[in-house]
Amino acid sequence: MTHNQTISQDLRKAGLKVTLPRLNILEILEGAEQHHMSAEDVYKALLKQGSDVGLATVYRVLTQFEAAGLVTRHHFDGGQAIFELDTGDNHDHIVCMKSGKVSEFKDELIEKRLHEIAEELGYSLTDHKIILYGVYQDKDELAESSIS
Ligand SMILES: [Zn+2]
Repeated sequence: MTHNQTISQDLRKAGLKVTLPRLNILEILEGAEQHHMSAEDVYKALLKQGSDVGLATVYRVLTQFEAAGLVTRHHFDGGQAIFELDTGDNHDHIVCMKSGKVSEFKDELIEKRLHEIAEELGYSLTDHKIILYGVYQDKDELAESSIS
């Protein structure tokens, strides 16, 4: 099976008809190195591929993907909505307040504590979202600036 056929299958499984914009956008999300993307990031990646899909279409397709459970939309403070493929692994995020860079983490100790806290309050935990905000500094750049 070709890569395109796999993506077509993913679309059909999600109950979506296969169209070229949907194919292209899902392909970008699946292949993205930095897999937290704004609609504009996706739009720019499409442009680079020579596609003429407009920004409004990108928004519409991403919203359809969200409704179909293919992608998750995040609303981080101070930035645009960020989309990523929904892999179901339920990770948490830390966001740089300067650059908007997003990193992910998963911590078993925190997860365990969250369940305990919920239980103490009489809840059984079904979902959680943790977003940390900070300022990212590249470790290599830090080392360089301390030398010079
Ligand atoms: Zn993520």
